Amino acid sequence: MIDVLRATVRTVPDFPTPGIQFRDITPILAKPELVRFAVKALVEPYRKVGVTKVLAVEARGFILGPMLAEALDAGFIPVRKSGKLPYTTIRETYALEYGNDTIEMHIDAVGDDDVVLIHDDLIATGGTAAATFRLAVFGGASVAGFAFLVELDALEGRLLLEEGVPVHSLVHF
Ligand code: AMP
Repeated sequence: MIDVLRATVRTVPDFPTPGIQFRDITPILAKPELVRFAVKALVEPYRKVGVTKVLAVEARGFILGPMLAEALDAGFIPVRKSGKLPYTTIRETYALEYGNDTIEMHIDAVGDDDVVLIHDDLIATGGTAAATFRLAVFGGASVAGFAFLVELDALEGRLLLEEGVPVHSLVHF
């Protein structure tokens, strides 16, 4: 099934800028059996570690993020691009595979009692996930791990993440 998942990711060359091989997950989203499988497989290592919140990053992290949260009986916390969240936020700036960005989370979104799982559709350089980790820790939470549908191995993004925190990716390119 992992092979089917991998084969269903569509690679679009030179999007959004020349030289980037964009790994498009929308063909997976169009197949309910693949979405069901992906959600189950993503939460599997984190079922018994007491996850209370799933933090996911705008925009593609918002697709499976709430489904992972529901599967773990946890809350969903949106981490958004700068200026989108209405209440007081904490923020982090980071480098992307293409460009720079700032992400924000509501200041009261997580607290000392929270155990969080961080999710995004894909890890490239790891900058987004590392910034999300810093937001979670700043909020007082402990981080159970990371869950990605796709990991771009050559970019070694996982090396940017906190040592010793589990990183679980379903499909590797
Ligand atoms: P990074 O911070 O470099 O790990 O980038 C991860 C974020 O950028 C994720 O939200 C991805 O959706 C997006 N992204 C980066 N590179 C790609 C790529 N080659 N294909 C699809 N999405 C990408």
